Amino acid sequence: MKEKKKISVVIPMYFEEEVVNECYSRMNDVLNKLDKYEYEIIVVDDGSKDNTLSLLEELARKDNKLKILSFSRNFGHQAAVTAGLKYVSGDVILIIDADMQDPPEVLEEMLELWEQGNEVIYGKRKVRKGESKFKLLSAKMFYRTLNALSDVEIPVDTGDFRLVDRKVVDVINSLPEHNKFLRGLFSWVGYKQKAYEYERKERFAGKTKYPLKKMLKLASDGIISFSTKPLKMLGILGIVAIIISIVILIYALISYAFNLNQLTPGWTSIMVAITFFAGVQLVSIWVISEYIGRIYDETRRRPQYIIDKKINI
Ligand code: UDP
Ligand code: MG
Repeated sequence: MKEKKKISVVIPMYFEEEVVNECYSRMNDVLNKLDKYEYEIIVVDDGSKDNTLSLLEELARKDNKLKILSFSRNFGHQAAVTAGLKYVSGDVILIIDADMQDPPEVLEEMLELWEQGNEVIYGKRKVRKGESKFKLLSAKMFYRTLNALSDVEIPVDTGDFRLVDRKVVDVINSLPEHNKFLRGLFSWVGYKQKAYEYERKERFAGKTKYPLKKMLKLASDGIISFSTKPLKMLGILGIVAIIISIVILIYALISYAFNLNQLTPGWTSIMVAITFFAGVQLVSIWVISEYIGRIYDETRRRPQYIIDKKINI
C-alpha cells in the first residue's frame, strides 16, 4: 500500500498560555479525523515568559507528534513561522495562529484544493469578528498601501493562514534573505495559488499579541522588502520643488517687469534659492537611492527565477 501523505502544522505562540490546550485539542481533533493522512504539529514558542512552554512540554511528553521549538527571546511572529518551516517533514504544510481565529476545521476543504493540484491555498478573510474598528481599518489600509507600492501582487485581506505544498516551502526555506515577510514571499514565489474564503473568528482567549508597534514594524518590513518606490518618491518631491522655484521666479520677474506689486527686496532671490536647491538636493538623493535600491535588491539575494518543472532535462 502507498504510504500516507503527511501534514505538518506550524503554530507560532507568544504568551499563549490561555489557548495552548484548546489549540492543541482542536488541532488534534481535526487531524485525527483526517485518517488518510499522517501528521505532526510544530509549535514555535517565540520567547513567551508565561507558562506557554511548560504547558507545551507537558503535552509533548505524551505525544511525540507534537514538536516544539523554543526561542531564546521574542523574535516576532514572522521569525517564528520561518523557523517552524525549516523543521517540517510533511508533504503539505499548514500555517495557523494559536488563537484559533482561523478555524482549523477548514483544513479538510483546503486539503481537497491541494489534492486538486493547487500549491498555495491562502486563507482570505470574508468577515473578521471581534476585532476593533481601528484594527480593521489599519489592516485594510495596510493591504491597500502595500499593494500600491509593491512590485508583486500580494492578495488583500490575507494573513499567514495558509496550506502550502512542500516544494513551495522548500523554495521559501532556500531564500537567503533575512527578515522574511512571509505573506509577500508566498505570493512572490508564484506556483498555483488559490484563495480559500473563510470567516475570521474572535480570539479564543487572551489579547492580541500585535500591538501597534509590532503592526507598524510588520507594515514597514512588508513595504520595504517588496518595494523601492519610497526611494523614488524623493525624486518626485525634488522635481516638484524645482517647478515651484521656477514658478516663483517667473512670478517675480513678471511683477518686476510690469511693476504689478512691490515685492520686499530680497524675497525673490531667497525663495528661489531655497526651493531650487532643496529640489536639486532631493533629485540628487533620488539618483543615489536608485543605486541603493539596486544594491538592496542584490543583497536580498533572492533568485532571479524559480524553476517549477524540468522536462527531458
Ligand atoms: N505571535 C508570535 N510572536 C509575536 C507576536 C505574535 O509568535 O511576537 C503569534 C501569536 O501567538 C499568534 C500569532 O502570532 O499565534 C498571531 O498573533 P495575534 O493573534 O496576537 O495577532 P492578531 O490575530 O491580533 O493579528
Ligand atoms: Mg489573532
